[in-house]
Amino acid sequence: MKTFDAAIAGGGLIGGSIALELAQAGLRVAVFDQADPGREASWAGAGILSPAPESAATIPIVPLAKASMALYPQFVENVEEISGQNVGFRPKGTLQALFSRDAARELSTVIALHHGLGLKAEPIRADDARELEPALNPELEAAVLRPEEASVDNRALTRAVLDAARKSGAEVFAGRKVTSIWRDGERCAGLIFAEEDEKVSAKWTIIAAGSFSARIAGAEGYAPVKPAKGQMAALRSNDVEIERVLWSDKIYLVPRNDGRILAGRGWPGAASFRRAEAGAGSGLRASGRNLGGIAAGFSRPFADSRRRGSRGIADCHRSLPQRHPACARHGATDARVGHGVELMH
Ligand SMILES: Cc1cc2nc3c(=O)[nH]c(=O)nc-3n(C[C@H](O)[C@H](O)[C@H](O)COP(=O)(O)OP(=O)(O)OC[C@H]3O[C@@H](n4cnc5c(N)ncnc54)[C@H](O)[C@@H]3O)c2cc1C
Repeated sequence: MKTFDAAIAGGGLIGGSIALELAQAGLRVAVFDQADPGREASWAGAGILSPAPESAATIPIVPLAKASMALYPQFVENVEEISGQNVGFRPKGTLQALFSRDAARELSTVIALHHGLGLKAEPIRADDARELEPALNPELEAAVLRPEEASVDNRALTRAVLDAARKSGAEVFAGRKVTSIWRDGERCAGLIFAEEDEKVSAKWTIIAAGSFSARIAGAEGYAPVKPAKGQMAALRSNDVEIERVLWSDKIYLVPRNDGRILAGRGWPGAASFRRAEAGAGSGLRASGRNLGGIAAGFSRPFADSRRRGSRGIADCHRSLPQRHPACARHGATDARVGHGVELMH
């Protein structure tokens, strides 16, 4: 039986980052992923780095998110240096676009909320916002600049983190499904795998299986995660360029260094995963159309993606059940750890 200092179930961004830190600290580390490491939520995400709460339920984790945000530049530098790969970190802030007729009131609420949580947020007049981001839709009423926020190319980051972990001595295994935590009396002794109840022993056992964590026997009490839903499309447009993350209540846009713009949409109201799935395809497109696009040129790419990408959406729908979204519930806090996805690339 193999023995490690630390055995990690799940090779996404979180499992990979933990492996990197522990390997750099001199521990013998192994990461076990049931499929290809780094191809679940860490592959699907938008890469927005924001300590701002998405809902009232996530307010309690804002201090943790702020502390994490402060560490990010150093984390990125470390990963890029060891891996030799660029991870597309863009510390350029977020512009929150307000379109409602009641934008003045919404503006003061957003500013008060952010300031109350110790987060920087500056009110911006519509004209000034369009000077910062010329592609913004002229229907814009007002905006909020959140200068401390950033984005990263999460696919590049996850690849680089796993590479840096390997280069630092961690072993990363693909196709190794963990079924349960191995308990030896009160002690956690390692991991048990699907293949013939095989075990690895470890001094420290870490569950980092994202939205799948509750399926590992023994972990469900610590990580009672459940699905939540999101949608994502990658767009390219010759007419639209954006510098920062653009955020509105219906849709968000995230620029990548390679010119792509990711368009995403949460699905907080989804009462059931299946029901949300049925209407999900049109949801993202409708958000784009209803806004006329948060950015002026965006109704066109959305229309194009509808023509060219409708099969892509349908295919992705069928793959959604394996790509479970998740929401970790901890007392009063709902922390999103991943959610369903559809991608058109
Ligand atoms: C559409 C979408 C948009 C998002 N946008 C953002 C965003 O803008 N900003 C942000 O901060 N976050 C965002 N997120 C959330 C973010 O992607 C996740 O929080 C993050 O990637 C979670 O990383 P992870 O390593 O915990 O999980 P994952 O990347 O899901 O990794 C878990 C790994 O565990 C493996 N695994 C599962 N079960 C087992 C098992 N039994 N045995 C072994 N291995 C197992 C899986 O194969 C997988 O590789 C988004 C998520 C999605 C889906």
